[in-house]
Amino acid sequence: MNRKTKQLTGILLALGLIALMLTPTLQAKPNTLVRDSIPDKYKWDLGQIYADWTAWEQGLTRLQEIMSEYAGLKGSLAGGPQAILKAAKLGDELGMLARKVGQYASLNSAQDMRDNTVSARSQQVQIAFANFGVVVAWFNPELLAIPWETMKQWLDSTPELKPYRLGIEDLYRQQTHVLSEDKEQLLAYFSQVNNAPSAIFGKLSTSDMKYPTTTLSDGNPVKLTPGAYYSIKSTNRNQADRAKATESFYGAYVDNRNTYAAIYDGILQSDWASAQARNYTSCLESYLNADNVPVDVYKNLVNTVRGGVGPLQRYYKLVKEELGLTEFHLYDDMIPLVDFNKTYDYDQIQPWIIDAMAPLGKDYQARLKTAFESRWIDVYENEGKRTGAFSAPTYGVHPFLLLNYNETLNEVYTVAHELGHCMHSMLSNETQPFASAEPTIFVAEVASTMNEALLLDYMLTKTKDPVERIALLARAIKSIDGTFYTQSMWADFEMRTHEAVEQGMPITAETLSDIYGKLQKEYYGDAVTVDDYYRYVWTRIPHFYNTPFYVYKYATCYATSAKLAAEIMSKDKKVKAAGLDRYMTLLKSGSSDYSMELLKKAGVDLSQPATFQAIVDRLDSYVTQLEAELAKLK
Ligand SMILES: [Zn+2]
Repeated sequence: MNRKTKQLTGILLALGLIALMLTPTLQAKPNTLVRDSIPDKYKWDLGQIYADWTAWEQGLTRLQEIMSEYAGLKGSLAGGPQAILKAAKLGDELGMLARKVGQYASLNSAQDMRDNTVSARSQQVQIAFANFGVVVAWFNPELLAIPWETMKQWLDSTPELKPYRLGIEDLYRQQTHVLSEDKEQLLAYFSQVNNAPSAIFGKLSTSDMKYPTTTLSDGNPVKLTPGAYYSIKSTNRNQADRAKATESFYGAYVDNRNTYAAIYDGILQSDWASAQARNYTSCLESYLNADNVPVDVYKNLVNTVRGGVGPLQRYYKLVKEELGLTEFHLYDDMIPLVDFNKTYDYDQIQPWIIDAMAPLGKDYQARLKTAFESRWIDVYENEGKRTGAFSAPTYGVHPFLLLNYNETLNEVYTVAHELGHCMHSMLSNETQPFASAEPTIFVAEVASTMNEALLLDYMLTKTKDPVERIALLARAIKSIDGTFYTQSMWADFEMRTHEAVEQGMPITAETLSDIYGKLQKEYYGDAVTVDDYYRYVWTRIPHFYNTPFYVYKYATCYATSAKLAAEIMSKDKKVKAAGLDRYMTLLKSGSSDYSMELLKKAGVDLSQPATFQAIVDRLDSYVTQLEAELAKLK
């Protein structure tokens, strides 16, 4: 992705697409769903962005003026470093204003999506942003037409260009895999064709999907939409029902297995063709190059995790025993070990979250207090409000948080998680110039998962209730299973399937299921009975079809956070202080360097097995604690 596309993606991300965590809705604290009747202190104050829509209109007008001004600079870059500086600075002004204007409309829309006037204004913004893409399109090719030697000289002799240096260097770096103009033109003719498999997957899995209906032990037929299916998996304590529902649910995918295999083959072939055309030695290398990540990091992840499945298997065996099952199947992994329905009042959890973050220092805690007290957070559900939760960074103002707080334990963690995103963007925005303020994807989930780890530690110490401790530990274990182990296994699958194509092996439903089944054996050993239809999980994972080689980033984020958390929670004062210092520096560094370099400065080397081993160890410790807590109940 080039810098301008990155900027545009950044804007889209900033508009609230960060971190959706959907949870079922219970009754929230205010006994009303009418927004106007909810006390102000539980609603965000968007007046902190713009006083009113009139002020916003002025912002939008100004945005359009800057766009024309920017378009007017086309053809000027060859004029020298000052011309580049001028365009870069104007680009910053454009980006900053676009975020404010966009966020104001987007957040107003999120608080009540039924409001047509607001929807119309959001559309105005979208049209403006579409123009934004067109307006900035000339910049990269024009810049790259300047020889690197000249550019390097300009950068060296112009200190004001420093904030833009990395972005410019990165453009030239990626240029090594850009072909001559006529070859690029030829490849461009096929871009729509290359996107076809992913589009076909989408149609087959949504609009053309026929969800089966099955009858469970209560005699009632149930249509197995994903929602209904997950509800059975997580609440139905009859294993035979879970087995029947799962087999039917997967049946819909297994029936189309040959079609899914042909679609996925299309993706693999397209990836390999494109990698070869651009002189990469493998598909993996071509995908990782965009982030300047070495292939070794990826291989280190999948190899270390494959070797660290012991605690995961121990956990499954423990669940099997606790649930009194003869065999543990994958459809048994969402059933709670204990019935736990405790509710957590929002006013009560605020001081907990602040106290829990004490290891991160007083300044961090003070910032959390400000976030809670200054109407940055929209707490409760109301009619028309967007579901889920997100943190919306607003450069030049401060982040806003949307929640649908329903008083469950999960939601307490959501608050801590989203506040992690919030603190991260605050610290980066304050420290970095605009051009390097946005954190890179490799650290995007570090602050959020760090907060979760600290909250868990705090709550485990605080509670005297063994059932609550079990719920806390089980939640943490599942989170590691889902965010780290599953994503690593999927990353492993993507690597093996792409390698198969690179070696000229035929791709069929059976070869793909063999690869997937083999991985399941390696991960689950004898702890899990893997039903035959589970070998077809690959048919339904959108990431495989939409964003190849992406899921490993979830695992690396989680590992980074675990590595630093282990230091920050260390009993050794020196280790703790040094870890905290590096962690805070990381949160303040935005995208001021390549991700791997920023992580190295933070003491996290993703090419070392020890980094991923930290999570394996953490899981091991949670499973041991869970065993002890369960034993206490007997
Ligand atoms: Zn998140």
